[in-house]
Amino acid sequence: MSDPAPNVDAAEIGKFDALAGRWWDPNGEFAPLHRLNPLRLAYLKSRVALAGKAVLDVGCGGGILTESLLQEGARATGIDLAPAALTVAELHALEAGLTADYRLVSAEALADSCPGAFDVITCMELLEHVPDPTSTLAALGKLVRPGGDVFVSTINRNVKSFLVAIVGAEYLTRTVPKGTHEYARFIRPQELGRAARRVGLTVADIAGVEIDPFTRAFSLGSDVSVNYLLHLRRPGPQGS
Ligand code: SAH
Repeated sequence: MSDPAPNVDAAEIGKFDALAGRWWDPNGEFAPLHRLNPLRLAYLKSRVALAGKAVLDVGCGGGILTESLLQEGARATGIDLAPAALTVAELHALEAGLTADYRLVSAEALADSCPGAFDVITCMELLEHVPDPTSTLAALGKLVRPGGDVFVSTINRNVKSFLVAIVGAEYLTRTVPKGTHEYARFIRPQELGRAARRVGLTVADIAGVEIDPFTRAFSLGSDVSVNYLLHLRRPGPQGS
């Protein structure tokens, strides 16, 4: 069955598409993604082996993480609903001599056509941009094979995350454009954990992205109050 009511906010897609040409500028509007990338890659590598695995990057945008997955030897597929961002991803991979499989398709639609097709799924900085994150999570749970791993990252919802991710990043330091994030769409880890369990995924681990207040350098730690990563698993045949 194809999407009866696609879980997508066209205004969100429009924002990402309009900025697509800036995706690979490490000092541009997507600088935070460039700065997060080494951390999330290190986290993934500490939790799963990537070489030779079928990995799906959901909401891949211009392909910052997808390319890192390819460089680690994964067979990576990147999906997104922003056509210009996908074009940038394709061209960048071509220039880098990497073979990626980029597709303009929603997680829900792909889950209908390829259930259980992926060993590992990454879905970074996407859930806070979709109208129904639980629908996305359900699709991830369907796309990953039994015993496979799902990694999601998003922004927590509390006073500190509002101050850091919206007031700080959009208005004070202006590291990201105004309107990038909407507070009401931020997701608390408990809410995400509950939604994951409801769709049959188990929570294996959680890690926070900590920001040094002086140098603004990012590091992984236990403080999940702003940006965090969740490692989920689809139970295997033996419940593993
Ligand atoms: N995951 C990438 C990009 C994050 S930016 C990274 O972390 O580097 C958020 C991305 O989600 C954008 O590329 C945007 O086009 C995409 N997106 C937003 N809503 C979406 C939806 N409903 N389905 C798929 N992708 C979506």
